[in-house]
Amino acid sequence: MRLDDLFDLIPLGLLRGVIFVFGLLWGSFLNVVIYRVPRELSVVRPASHCPACGEPIAPWDNIPVVSYLLLRGRARCCGARMSPRYPLVELIGGALSLAVFEVFVLGLPGSTSVGRAAAIYGADFALCLGLVAAAFIDAEHMYLPDAITLGGIVLGVFTATLRGLPLTESLLGAAAGFVGVWFPFIFLYKGLLGRTGMGLGDAKLLGLAGAWFGWPGAVFALFAGAVQGTVYALGLRVLGIEPKLPAAVLEEIAELEKAAAAGDEEAKKALAEDPLTEDEDDAFIVRFFQRLFGLRRDAANGEGDASPATPSAEPESAVGGTSSASEPSTAAGETTGGETTGGETSGGEPTAEEPEPSAPTMRARIPFGPFLILAMLELLFARDWLESHLLPALWPEP
Ligand SMILES: [Zn+2]
Repeated sequence: MRLDDLFDLIPLGLLRGVIFVFGLLWGSFLNVVIYRVPRELSVVRPASHCPACGEPIAPWDNIPVVSYLLLRGRARCCGARMSPRYPLVELIGGALSLAVFEVFVLGLPGSTSVGRAAAIYGADFALCLGLVAAAFIDAEHMYLPDAITLGGIVLGVFTATLRGLPLTESLLGAAAGFVGVWFPFIFLYKGLLGRTGMGLGDAKLLGLAGAWFGWPGAVFALFAGAVQGTVYALGLRVLGIEPKLPAAVLEEIAELEKAAAAGDEEAKKALAEDPLTEDEDDAFIVRFFQRLFGLRRDAANGEGDASPATPSAEPESAVGGTSSASEPSTAAGETTGGETTGGETSGGEPTAEEPEPSAPTMRARIPFGPFLILAMLELLFARDWLESHLLPALWPEP
């Protein structure tokens, strides 16, 4: 069966409706993934339950978007407020499903077989779903699950020819994307400065970009992601909002500190290694651009105490003696940042030249993954435009 035959059989409007609802349902599943994968729970069992009280959620209360509106954003069981993230992710699922259909399926010649069109839709929509899940997980937990990044690389390689990308270029792109981040920002950075500049998750994510779009795609994602992350950081600064670590990450650190205070050697080790720099995002690129444009307040004038994050930071580091807040996880070149606030809290701490400014800096860290992912979605949907307008140099004419 060819696409032409399908469109003769089913009105396009109906088809679009079905595709949109299909996307909403997958968006609903994404909510499960975003909640459960970081907590190492199965995404299949048990069935959905209320995150507040644990009651199972009836299927009719689990209809994407509709249930949220009918229940006015509250759980039926216990009245707990439901995060607007749930309908938002569902709508994103619906919108991306429709967008993949419009851009990739309707763009095919009518003589294309329905099977091939479905494979193209399935591959591109799966990429979208994985990227959205990864973006929300990274924003909340500051890590990118291997299941998504490595799984996405595999899927990208296996479906490369569907996109007209030669297999070798897909493999080369995956390697280039990974090594392009790993070598300068992790290997060299660690070798020279004793810490990681970016997370391994970012390297895998760039590998994914390369597997799907070839190495120029990885280059684009890295730079467009960095620019967008910087714009975001700049926007926060203009609005006077101090970026904070996500609540889930702060909880994790607080738990580690509690365990370390109780004498747990493993927790101490985890804190000493800094749970945020090992395998996770450091937004090195974002900081690099911030410094480039003179956006960093603590690096230049050492005035870290004006930030609203400082008051919340101090009691915490005062409680946990070996607080990770003063780990050497801060950006390079901040050695001049030491000022007075360090004296009162860092009494028993073995930190040498950068006492307290590291606390607000750590809380100011922005995950980089969501910005890389935004760039990859732009590349997916607007590649033709980008190729002809923005990056003619990256994709030379064949
Ligand atoms: Zn409940």
